[in-house]
Amino acid sequence: MKVLVAVKRVVDFNVKIRVKSDGTGVETGNVKMSMNPFDEIAVEEGVRMREAGTANELIAVSMGPRQCQETIRTALAMGVDRGILVETDAELEPLTVAKLLKAITGKESPDLVILGKQAIDDDCNQTGQMLAALLGWGQGTFASGIEFGDGKVTVTREIDGGLETVALTLPAVVTADLRLNEPRYASLPNIMKAKKKPIDTMTPEDLGVDAAPRLKTLKVEEPQDREAGTMVETVAELVDKLRNEAKVI
Ligand code: AMP
Repeated sequence: MKVLVAVKRVVDFNVKIRVKSDGTGVETGNVKMSMNPFDEIAVEEGVRMREAGTANELIAVSMGPRQCQETIRTALAMGVDRGILVETDAELEPLTVAKLLKAITGKESPDLVILGKQAIDDDCNQTGQMLAALLGWGQGTFASGIEFGDGKVTVTREIDGGLETVALTLPAVVTADLRLNEPRYASLPNIMKAKKKPIDTMTPEDLGVDAAPRLKTLKVEEPQDREAGTMVETVAELVDKLRNEAKVI
């Protein structure tokens, strides 16, 4: 089975996000960037399939500026075979990423595409669903378990208050949730080996996709500062404050 995995370069999850002073977005200059955490889980799942022999080729795709190569190299160091970089300085939104992935799927004919359930920078949670719709393939989103057999993939999904299991006919799209697995750290020898693995570079134009945005960001604001809480001595005082100060009861 051939597996494609989508990896996005995002501001590292440990970085305290700062909004640009003109409110047009968040500061990304001189900020540590890393692979989207849900994509690390997607890569790990692909690498486990590769190790188990379920997959015989694993390809990582990233889209964005040239530095996305570093994100692909991380995936290669984790065990991915080769990379594809779709290089562009355009702001990419989920529909464009889904169209680009569809075009790559047309060239590579994978049996499975694994994405993260959500990118932690835009929090869209749209790309996997849009890709499945554009391809006309089945989708198993928020996967916490994946099993293969008889040309089918069985996906356990995390839903409100429980788990749902769906069976999809391959080819299919799966998006990885937090509990699917625990991604490995790349070892130094594998980081060295990854330097020799191939990365193909192309542009949205090469893939016949118009990357012009359809969405316009009007304003980005810092969340409001939370006021400090107060300690109350008794339940009666709490009820009094809720009734007369907060006026919520
Ligand atoms: P989103 O719909 O933006 O929350 O992203 C969901 C998933 O789509 C991510 O976890 C990635 O797997 C994939 N994705 C989104 N944008 C990109 C990108 N620029 N390059 C590669 N993969 C992406």
